[in-house]
Amino acid sequence: MSLTLAIVGRPNVGKSTLFNRLVGKRLALVDDQPGVTRDLREGEARLGDLRFTVIDTAGLEDATDDSLQGRMRRLTERAVDMADVCLFLIDARAGITPVDEMFAEILRKRSEHVILAANKAEGAAADAGVLEAYGLGLGEPIRLSGEHGEGMADLYAALMPIADAMAEEAAEVEVVEAPATDVELPEDEDGEFEAAAITAAKPLQVAVVGRPNAGKSTLINKILGEERLLTGPEAGITRDAISLSIDWGGTPMRIFDTAGMRKKAKVQEKLEKLSVSDGLRAVKFAEVVVVLLDAAIPFEQQDLRIADLAEREGRAVVVAVNKWDVEEHRQEKLRELKEAFERLLPQLRGAPLVTVSAKTGRGLDRLHDAILRAHDVWNRRVPTAALNRWLTGMLEQHPPPAPQGKRIKLRYMTQAKTRPPGFVVMCSHPDKMPASYSRYLVNGLREDFDMPGTPIRLTLRGQG
Ligand code: GDP
Ligand code: GDP
Repeated sequence: MSLTLAIVGRPNVGKSTLFNRLVGKRLALVDDQPGVTRDLREGEARLGDLRFTVIDTAGLEDATDDSLQGRMRRLTERAVDMADVCLFLIDARAGITPVDEMFAEILRKRSEHVILAANKAEGAAADAGVLEAYGLGLGEPIRLSGEHGEGMADLYAALMPIADAMAEEAAEVEVVEAPATDVELPEDEDGEFEAAAITAAKPLQVAVVGRPNAGKSTLINKILGEERLLTGPEAGITRDAISLSIDWGGTPMRIFDTAGMRKKAKVQEKLEKLSVSDGLRAVKFAEVVVVLLDAAIPFEQQDLRIADLAEREGRAVVVAVNKWDVEEHRQEKLRELKEAFERLLPQLRGAPLVTVSAKTGRGLDRLHDAILRAHDVWNRRVPTAALNRWLTGMLEQHPPPAPQGKRIKLRYMTQAKTRPPGFVVMCSHPDKMPASYSRYLVNGLREDFDMPGTPIRLTLRGQG
């Protein structure tokens, strides 16, 4: 299976130049193929050991009958829809323009994989433009020079995991459906996201994981309203091999059903194959992972491993302690649980811990709310201006260390991604920054911008 990459961006950012570099002479003749018009050039590209199809959208000179912007938008949208990955070019020498921002918006909404590249980045004159590109909210830009062939290794590194994931997905297509598109969030004028808008747009993906007998089936049955899980599709519930679509308390959700899958797998004599990676599969599927513990035997090795996996995969986590109905010394037990949680899973600091009884249904409202809240936090975007004000305060309160007498300077910070929140700090000597200072910043972000229960990624970048 071949990957298709679309090069998009406003006129003059260097799309054709890059296209020519990637394709060389291997240009496909697409003129007489139906559906592919001449304004989208297509070619077979080679980058290291990667082979892929590349589409160039630089055909706008013959825009005559229409406004250039409208035409550009439609052309780009068509290319985006044809492609698996979009390489979005900006001109680092010119900086970010409103038209770039329009493109960013299209891509955030429409494309599953976007690689942002600051082109014409050879030399120091491009530094400011590269920095500005972080502000587009499309992740970390790679520095490219299509004309000079610089940054090709970074482009390769960005493409490689996507190509791998596609190959893997193709191999697994019988068992697992493709995860939902990572849609970026609609933002209002202040740069705050609108939680309601996303929740309505697509079902929230939840996985309930935990050791055997923790009560996963019982919990999902209870949420569905008793025995429906066993009796198959009914009004309001659709189910496929791995997930159930439901409306839980007014929130459309898709719940990854490991327990149900295992039962089905048994029938198909695929048990061995499936059970190995049940947990991983569930975590990959989910936006929010509910780690279900048995109150009688909480935080077993298996629970810790899956919670850690969820954190490393960047999922929002809610810990639910089940079978609370049989617990006698609840206050004391809760204290113990919280203490154990902090000690054993420090990487999930602040994640909600709720007590439930899947059997009686007590606590399910709280679980529902905790899932929604964790999802909100996971999606949160902090405006750049607020972040930099905050950074200034943090630096004053605790200046960064000065290894060998040279103080590390932190210059600028921006949120490069959501789901989970990821931040980039531009600084001098990123390699000399002690982990404790990064932790100080991450914990500060968590506290000051109220982001409990979500992994927070912090990347330090050197300039130049
Ligand atoms: P397109 O309209 O996006 O396809 O852009 P072109 O590929 O036609 O390039 C527009 C202009 O930018 C041309 O003059 C190119 O020579 C120039 N250009 C393209 N890539 C680079 C680069 O990496 N560095 C510099 N400095 N100029 C470039
Ligand atoms: P799974 O393997 O995680 O899907 O666990 P099950 O849902 O099959 O539950 C395992 C056992 O725990 C069953 O006997 C359930 O009846 C029991 N169980 C599940 N939830 C609760 C609960 O909230 N309270 C009590 N007392 N028992 C429960």
